[in-house]
Amino acid sequence: MGKIPLNTNVISDRLLRSWLRCKRKAWLDRFGNSQEKLWNAHRALELDHQHKSFLDLLHSKPEKGLNACIKGKEGIIGLRLKGFGPKGIKLEAHPHLLQKTEGQSKWGDFSYRPVIAKQGKRLTREQKLNLCLNGFLLEPFLENKVPYGLAIRKTNQGLEIEHVQLNKLLQNQLINSLENLSEELKKTIPPPITSDRKKCTLCSWRGVCNAEAAAIGHLSEVNGIGARRREILQSLGINLLKDLAETEPIDLASKLHKFGEQHGEIAFELVAQAKAQLNGDIERLNPDKILPEINFAKGILIYDIESDPDERNDFLHGLMSLKREENGSWNIKKGRYHPILNLEKKDESYTWKKLKMKLEKYQDWPILHYGETEIITISRMAKKNNLPEEDISKICNRMIDIHSRTREYWRLPINSYGLKSLAGWIGFKWHQAGADGPNALLWWRQWKQVKIEDRKKSTKLKSIFEYNKDDCLATWAVTNWLMSKG
Ligand code: SF4
Repeated sequence: MGKIPLNTNVISDRLLRSWLRCKRKAWLDRFGNSQEKLWNAHRALELDHQHKSFLDLLHSKPEKGLNACIKGKEGIIGLRLKGFGPKGIKLEAHPHLLQKTEGQSKWGDFSYRPVIAKQGKRLTREQKLNLCLNGFLLEPFLENKVPYGLAIRKTNQGLEIEHVQLNKLLQNQLINSLENLSEELKKTIPPPITSDRKKCTLCSWRGVCNAEAAAIGHLSEVNGIGARRREILQSLGINLLKDLAETEPIDLASKLHKFGEQHGEIAFELVAQAKAQLNGDIERLNPDKILPEINFAKGILIYDIESDPDERNDFLHGLMSLKREENGSWNIKKGRYHPILNLEKKDESYTWKKLKMKLEKYQDWPILHYGETEIITISRMAKKNNLPEEDISKICNRMIDIHSRTREYWRLPINSYGLKSLAGWIGFKWHQAGADGPNALLWWRQWKQVKIEDRKKSTKLKSIFEYNKDDCLATWAVTNWLMSKG
């Protein structure tokens, strides 16, 4: 579906989806400068999953357009439905898939129902209302009732199918949403940035909104403030990062206690973090040596995993080995990257053998990683492959989580202590601009779709390795920065 022209007053299923995710997103979809939108691999991953789910549902490939519908084909795509909603609102929908069902339509003894693919287990409000809008516009098109739609999900265990009743209750919710959306689009300024900034990671408008949030000092910019905490702070008259930085921590703690102990306990931390971000301060929190384990190490390993959550497969175990120089210094340019691929979940014991060999080859070298994933994964794999407890402990004792070490020793003027944000603040640059975990996952899935004999020619795997290697190098950049501080 293309972008809605600026002057049109049609509400499409796409616009409704945007609005249900974030009111500001729908407004920007209609009035924003589309050149400021940023691509993100998440949508491509969704479409890939949708495609696989649809193929699992149908017996034959879906066919396109009205003619296929008239002929009563099993699955229909590429259809545009139009109609009118409450208060004469013009509506348009492009159902992802229509599936032929029993019943009657103006073309004969068959009917259709809308189908959507869901990503997670739970059906979201956005998905329900989307089905409902499709059903609403499908009824006059078929000249018959559409009592329910399907929400499906391909999983490792098979295809999950959920029947969704398109009842009065859902229709009322749809009407309400369409009316509210239509009102929102009459405004000349965009709605405020959402409180739940987690949504922004996947949104194409994140560049515009992140820049605005930083410029105004939006509360959500303060590390540790999510949607709920922001609401609470606003109810106390603290609306911006600057307000929080100027608040007396003891007063704030006593006010926040009323909302739950956990909020009160974090008051000091929130004010200190806001101050650090406002003033660009860095503050040491612990005077002890930061990385004593590396002091006398002959070398280090850096470990980073890439995963496919749908397949529950850690498809790449990236290791970088770095030997200490004769003069005691480190030269990351001499680091050697060792990617270990795990093609399918079932191949994991073979992958474990290769990983174990590497860990044994560089015996006693500390293993640096960023976040908990690597230590959780390595202990799980070791247990599953019957490594004795004592040996598992030895491996785990070699592992150093650079993320938690940073948090323990430093307060920094950054809005996230994630690897991208922290390494970027230190000055590290990824070779592939804009690459991230979802991107690596997309490349992986695309590479797996290439015929085995053509895989060597595909550049996808090279891009994944480069991205993963960069994550190792970024972990090193943070480690190096920590070591430089003693
Ligand atoms: S980036 Fe965030 S605030 Fe901006 S439109 Fe997207 S979800 Fe809404």
